[in-house]
Amino acid sequence: MTDLPSADLPSEARVVIIGGGIVGASTAYHLGKMGYSDTILIERGKLTSGTTFHAAGLVGQLRSNANITQLLGYSVDLYKNLEKETEQATGWKMNGGLRLACTQERWTEVKRQATTAHSFGLDMQLLTPKEAQDLWPMMTIDDVVGAAFLPTDGQANPSDITLSLAKGARMNGVSIYEDTEVLDVEVEDGQVVAVMTSKGRIKCDKVVNCCGQWARQEAKKVGVNVPLVSVEHQFMITEKIEGITPDLPTLRDPDRLTYYKEDVGGLVMGGYEPNGIPWATKGFPEKFQFSLLDSNWDHFEQLVELSLGRVPALETAGVRELINGPESFTPDGNFILGEAPELKNYFVGAGFNAFGIASGGGAGMALAEWVVNGEPPYDLWPVDIRRFGRAHFDTDWVRKRTLEAYGKHYTMAWPFEEHSSGRPNRRSPLYDQLKSQGACFGEKLGWERPNWFAREGQEAKDIYTFNRQNWFENVGEEHKLTRENITVFDQSSFAKFKLVGPDSEKALTWICANDVAKKPGSLTYTQMLNDRGGIECDLTVVRISNDEFYIVTGTGYATHDFDWIKKNIPEGLNAQLIDVTSGYSVLSVMGPCARKVLQKITDDNISNESFPFGSMQTLGVAGAPVMALRVTYVGELGWELHIPTEFALNVYQALMAAGQEFSIGNAGYRAIESLRLEKGYRAWSSDIGPDHTPLEAGMAWACKLKKEIDFKGRKALELQKIDGVKKSLCCFTVDDPSIILLGRETIYRNGERVGWLTSAGFGFTVQKNIGYGYVRNQEGVDRTYLKSGSYELEVGTERVACDIHFTALYDPKMEKVKQ
Ligand SMILES: Cc1cc2nc3c(=O)[nH]c(=O)nc-3n(C[C@H](O)[C@H](O)[C@H](O)COP(=O)(O)OP(=O)(O)OC[C@H]3O[C@@H](n4cnc5c(N)ncnc54)[C@H](O)[C@@H]3O)c2cc1C
Repeated sequence: MTDLPSADLPSEARVVIIGGGIVGASTAYHLGKMGYSDTILIERGKLTSGTTFHAAGLVGQLRSNANITQLLGYSVDLYKNLEKETEQATGWKMNGGLRLACTQERWTEVKRQATTAHSFGLDMQLLTPKEAQDLWPMMTIDDVVGAAFLPTDGQANPSDITLSLAKGARMNGVSIYEDTEVLDVEVEDGQVVAVMTSKGRIKCDKVVNCCGQWARQEAKKVGVNVPLVSVEHQFMITEKIEGITPDLPTLRDPDRLTYYKEDVGGLVMGGYEPNGIPWATKGFPEKFQFSLLDSNWDHFEQLVELSLGRVPALETAGVRELINGPESFTPDGNFILGEAPELKNYFVGAGFNAFGIASGGGAGMALAEWVVNGEPPYDLWPVDIRRFGRAHFDTDWVRKRTLEAYGKHYTMAWPFEEHSSGRPNRRSPLYDQLKSQGACFGEKLGWERPNWFAREGQEAKDIYTFNRQNWFENVGEEHKLTRENITVFDQSSFAKFKLVGPDSEKALTWICANDVAKKPGSLTYTQMLNDRGGIECDLTVVRISNDEFYIVTGTGYATHDFDWIKKNIPEGLNAQLIDVTSGYSVLSVMGPCARKVLQKITDDNISNESFPFGSMQTLGVAGAPVMALRVTYVGELGWELHIPTEFALNVYQALMAAGQEFSIGNAGYRAIESLRLEKGYRAWSSDIGPDHTPLEAGMAWACKLKKEIDFKGRKALELQKIDGVKKSLCCFTVDDPSIILLGRETIYRNGERVGWLTSAGFGFTVQKNIGYGYVRNQEGVDRTYLKSGSYELEVGTERVACDIHFTALYDPKMEKVKQ
């Protein structure tokens, strides 16, 4: 190894991309387009020699998130024109994509997917089995209930697309070096300074790890966690088959776990076995370039059998090849993008779960923007590297969960579906206690969290369906008990941080949209905004003392919010952020009887006068020093009790004993959801996020705009106040009890599509289906505009009547909360 640059390798670059698969090439292409011509792409073999060369090349677009769908739509737009731009063939064909449904439940799922597509602006059409067969004559349709067709889906030649992107990158000044290996990344003062390659050292500002399945081991060298593992993935290529034409749409047959595409007059057929085989569990072989694994017919046979029922011609077709290639998969089936929270200027684009060709164009664009601007072009939370956390450190756990996700690729995506592998992992001290009382747990970021409680004799297990699920009545009872008496929620999984140091107030005053510079004991609900005024974090800040703040945020946002706060502490300020999540358990005691019960077990005075809403006091409860936060997310009088973990069980038992005379009960996260929907409390990552400002979300009341205090995002809000908003978060209700709202239903105003539901559920007090969603209008959206429209929702492709509301459906004046 030498630390001198080789003859042809530059010694300096602004950005070094590691990996010449489709993702690295696309990132290089977009950086070139953005004027970053001093970008270098380093590939240890030849371009495409990793996973890309052996992909099947289907390009589908629809995902369950609008922005990720938009990203894939961007790929299609790019691939359409790339060949013309670079004069390098791409094999792009826009023949459309078919998806079959063979059961009534699957048909419901497909219809709901079609509505999601409509919400996101895609023209997904529903077809009868015969209409589907007209598009794909070689298939049988005896068992087909219906199909969906997306005309803009397509297919490409993965290697050609990649080489075309690489050519486009070169045309914009990017340099590409093959047969060069990145051996190490040098870090100084917590940020990237250089890469060491097999041909010398390159000093650089930023590194982008696009190493595909090797990204985890590559990132580990610099302490960055990229939770992905390799899984074998196979597809078969046949000889020519009579009747297979080049204009055939791609075909997905999820009930038979398989997909198809035309390939030089024959078929490519692949799929997702329920028992996926992990690969490279003990490390990667040397020089795995343009390499495949041995065909595994024994394992693939299960898919062949399923496919013969769909395409009988396969029985007699000659098989050209059974490709077995490893691909990187992730625990939640989504790819991984963004700047690593562990290391400044180190970016990742990896883990493409067998849709890297479909996502490559858009992912490269987003990653390039992230590299150049320090943030993605729009909210990409479902693929953001910061969605992972402590649970994703252990590779064995990551593999277990990933194999489950792999096996579920084509199985029904049920509403409220939970994973089952690698559980339980993170447990609150009350776990056993709650389990013995019937808790049915869900999981978030590795934490077990009670979703609902089974009655005596009832099994604590979700039974999935698109109709009302088995827990519906239980949640209704928990909801009612919270509204009428008192319940306890175990919310120990909340992420909790402390910001300490003499400049903590100054730092938070800049980062928070609301005013946190209040006296010790004050509690502030606040957002943290980006420069566009978008909501990056939504949390509670408690002032403990002059130089100490306690910050509470949602379970899933632990890594993201920690990273956001840390990154935005202005330079030179003395304020240190510490994650104290494991140190505190949280019991939320909610309901009109909460004061009576809590007062029974503390000597401290908790009357409204002594302990008003929006404040914190440390109470002595059952032998424990308890930080009690007078706050609520369910719209009732109540306290969040933050308890040093080792005391939590005692406090819980004391509460339950004291609450007996008030019929105290346990309640879970599904009740919280129903309660908060009635109260109009927003949820980050669905109702609010980086693309939504507090003005659009109806949360301007939580911003210190009336005070002369500068804060991050203020300028954007002020401008928006003058210009007016172009979208507004509204509440909708549907009276028909047979309708089930799940989110993503399309909103129509006077017959025109104006948005979709960001979250939805059932409100047990108001006895209505409730949904929230943004109404959009380029000309501006104000109350008059909103009130003057008549609204409908599209649910599973059918329009239903709905009402619009502008205040919370339950206790709009907060009287119940502030009593
Ligand atoms: C059988 C199969 C079928 C598939 N079908 C489809 C499909 O139909 N549609 C679809 O969208 N996707 C499909 N995929 C998925 C798709 O192939 C991948 O998601 C995509 O190719 C991933 O691209 P990448 O750039 O992330 O990784 P790769 O192509 O693996 O590129 C990573 C590169 O990094 C290089 N590298 C690693 N470490 C270093 C280092 N230290 N220094 C220098 N270089 C390094 C490697 O050599 C490699 O070339 C399929 C995958 C398989 C296995």
